This record gives sequence, C-alpha cells and structure tokens, in this order.
Amino acid sequence: MSAKGDMFYTQASEAAILEKGECGGAVTALLKYALESKTVDAVLTVQKGYDIYDATPVLITDPEELSKCAGSLHCGTLLIPKLIKKWLNGANDMKIAVTLKGCDAKAMYELAKRQQINLDNVYMIGLNCGGSVSPITARTMIQEKFGINPDDVVKEEIDKGKFIVFTKDGEEKGISMDELEEEGYGRRKNCQRCKTKIPRQTDLACGNWGVIGPLAGKATFVEVCSDKGAALLDAAVKAGAISTEAPIPKGIEIRGKIEKTMHKLADKQREAQFAKMGEGTERLKFIMDETSRCIKCYQCIENCPICYCVECSTKKPYLVEPGRVPPPFMFHLIRFSHISDSCVNCGQCEELCAMDIPNALFMHSLQVEMEKMFGFTPGVNMDLPILALVEEPTERDRLASTGSDQIYDIFKTEE
Ligand code: FAD
Ligand code: SF4
Ligand code: SF4
Ligand code: SF4
Ligand code: SF4
Repeated sequence: MSAKGDMFYTQASEAAILEKGECGGAVTALLKYALESKTVDAVLTVQKGYDIYDATPVLITDPEELSKCAGSLHCGTLLIPKLIKKWLNGANDMKIAVTLKGCDAKAMYELAKRQQINLDNVYMIGLNCGGSVSPITARTMIQEKFGINPDDVVKEEIDKGKFIVFTKDGEEKGISMDELEEEGYGRRKNCQRCKTKIPRQTDLACGNWGVIGPLAGKATFVEVCSDKGAALLDAAVKAGAISTEAPIPKGIEIRGKIEKTMHKLADKQREAQFAKMGEGTERLKFIMDETSRCIKCYQCIENCPICYCVECSTKKPYLVEPGRVPPPFMFHLIRFSHISDSCVNCGQCEELCAMDIPNALFMHSLQVEMEKMFGFTPGVNMDLPILALVEEPTERDRLASTGSDQIYDIFKTEE
C-alpha cells in the first residue's frame, strides 16, 4: 500500500504504452486504468494537433484511444482548467482524470475555491514541468538557431538543460536552454520565473527527474501527493496496469537538487525581469506605455483562470468607457485589482494577447509583492484569496464603526 509522500519508479505494463510514453508510460497507463475501471467517466488530456508545436485538448472516453496522446508536448502552451470550467460544467456532472502542469494545477485550485470546478470529481495527474516553449518561438528558433526547417522536425524534447530536435531525416540537434534564452529564445518568460516544478498539489506528481540506473529514460518517477493518488496508484498496480519499484536513493537526491536549482534560477529570473520594469512610478509608466497598445480583444480575460465572472466589470460602461481603443487604463486596473492576489503565472494573458503586451509579467510582479505583504500563495491549496476575506456587510459595519477606509491596515505602526 502506498501513502502520501511515497515515491516510485513506475512503468506501464503494456509494451505499446511503455514504448510510446515519454518516460515509463505510467501516466497513460494510469489514465487508461482509471477509464477501464470506471474510476472516471472521461480523461481530459492533450494530443498533437496540426504539428508538433500544436497541442490540442481532447476528452477521451474510449480507453483504447489514450495511447495516441502518450508523450510530452513542450510547445503546447494550453491551460486546461479553464476548459473544464467552460466546457465540462466544472466537472460537476462527471468524474474526470486530467493531466496538469504546475500552472494548470494551481489554476485548478483557484477555480475550485471560486466554486467553478468540483475537485471531488477530478483526479489530478501532475506533470513535473521545467518549462514550455511558445509555438511561435519554437518555430523561429529552430529555423534561426538550429538551421533546420521547423516543418522537418518530428519530435522535440527538453533533456539535461537542452532543447533537442529530431528531424524526419534522422538528424538530432540539441542546444543548451541557457544559450537559447540568453538570445531571447527558449522557454516562455513566465516559465523562466516559475517555481512550480513538481506539482505536489495534484494527486500524483509524475516526471523523469531522478530516474537513474538501469531504468534511466525508461520509467516515470511518481510522487504520491494525496490519499486519492495513493488509492489510484495501488489499484492500478493490483490490476496489473503498471509496475512500481523503489527509487534509487541517489536518484531522489538528484531530483531534489534539480528542483532546488530550478527554484534558484526562477528567483534570478524574477529579479531580472521585474527590475527591467523599474520601480514605483517608473514601473507604472512602463505598464501604462505597454498597455497603450491594447485593442481590447478580451483574450487576457477569456483565458485567465482567475477571471470567471459572468458579468465582467471591464464591460460596464460606467467603469470603462465603451467604444474607445485603446481603452482607458481603468480596463487594466480592474484586472490588476481583481486578479493580482491570485495570479498563477500561467502566462495565458501574455501568450494570447493580440498586441504582445507582457500582461503576465505585470500581474506576476504584483502577485509576488502581495504574497510578501499578506502571505497568501495562490494555487497551493484551498485557502481563500485575500480579496475573498473582505465580506461586504462586515466591511460596511467596520467602516461605519471605525470611519477608516483602510481594508488592510498595512500602514499601522507598532505602539
Ligand atoms: P506518458 O505516458 O507519455 O503520458 C503523458 C501524458 O501527458 C499524456 O496523456 C499527454 O497527453 C499529456 N501531455 C503531454 N503534453 C502535455 C501538456 N503540454 N500539457 C498537459 N498534458 C500533456 N518531467 C521532469 O521530470 N522534468 C521536466 O523538466 C519536465 N518538463 C516537462 C515539460 C512539459 C511542458 C511537459 C508537458 C512535461 C514535462 N515533464 C517533465 C514531464 C514528463 O515529460 C512526462 O510527462 C512525465 O514524466 C510522464 O511520463 P510518462 O511516460 O508517464 O507519460
Ligand atoms: Fe511549466 Fe511553470 Fe511554465 Fe506552467 S508556468 S508551463 S508549470 S514552467
Ligand atoms: Fe495567468 Fe495572466 Fe491570469 Fe496570471 S493574470 S493567472 S498569468 S492569465
Ligand atoms: Fe471578473 Fe474582474 Fe476578471 Fe472581469 S476582470 S472576469 S470582473 S475578475
Ligand atoms: Fe488588450 Fe492584450 Fe488583453 Fe487583448 S489580450 S484586451 S490586446 S491586453
């Protein structure tokens, strides 16, 4: 019997899944078992779309169809939770299993605490994540830096700090991510700042870091993160869908070291990227200048996992004058004030912005500041966001009795 905190080298028992899986095929085998055993009604995951730079979400109910999704798509920059909210009624009507990168996992919690997703009906299969690459950047960098036609690439992978491509003619070429990122290519900027490398808020966190010895490259490293995850893993072992063995202690140590190194790199990136915006009024001016390109396409709102409101304040004429492009700065201020405490740095508002405005950079910088001030970390558990702690009737009473409009008494000095 496994328990929260346990770690395993895991392999799919079915040879075809083991072969096709990114590492040990454990994720595909677990998803298949969950469907076959009717633990879930459907699996939400992604598959290759138009080309290897395109990840398409897919809802699968036939277990035999799962193997076509095996493998990792590093240029698929989808955020899955908002799809569950929008198209699957927040998983209220069916039990689903879903694969989630760190930012997806955080978004699941932020939507769940806003009652937009029913986590009781969801098995969260976490994927460790060193980062993803925007499809546009991937194509440009393969053309310009690798000297390869991006349409000739049949597989990409990120291994030992390198972005590696394989062509249809059997050519293999890898370039270090550090080198690529120094030249403006490589992972998305939000990924460079991200510290959710092993998503322990899911039920099972799966990856390749830490698999050494005879199974290196051939097993999935699974960390059990909840009782629900333990039960699924045990049942899949019992049914013969997967096999597990104890990890090599040195492998666990290496995995821990990689995670720490990634955190340090992300801290450095945060410092450097935030510093480029300047401080105080200089930063405000930077944000106002950048957002002056806005054409009010609403993609940042449509795709943000924290934006869930039926009636969005940015569409209220008394707050944002309609018919003006660029919209008044109030449009962006509304988003900053509603979301900044809970931003999970998923990058969607930047990735999908029609005008390439670095929205995620602004919002993440605010979130980091608010986390320092109020100690609230978004996306790690069901703790309510800061703004939710202000209840209107209570706040009205407080205003009436104290006469102070300071919701948070952050300027209070010790007496
Ligand atoms: P498989 O059996 O091959 O199943 C993988 C499942 O993940 C499939 O269901 C597939 O549809 C789904 N999937 C593929 N791409 C995505 C995506 N973009 N978003 C959501 N679901 C997806 N592990 C590490 O240890 N270190 C890393 O640095 C690391 N970086 C990663 C970066 C990305 C963008 C992704 C997607 C994964 C990363 N992983 C990393 C996880 C690793 O690549 C494997 O997914 C994991 O080890 C499971 O292997 P498997 O053979 O069991 O998975
Ligand atoms: Fe992965 Fe983090 Fe980037 Fe999400 S933000 S894709 S979890 S590195
Ligand atoms: Fe993601 Fe942007 Fe919303 Fe933050 S503000 S959660 S980066 S879409
Ligand atoms: Fe809701 Fe504010 Fe997002 Fe509009 S901007 S959807 S009001 S959170
Ligand atoms: Fe403006 Fe970009 Fe948001 Fe569109 S996605 S509304 S252009 S900030």
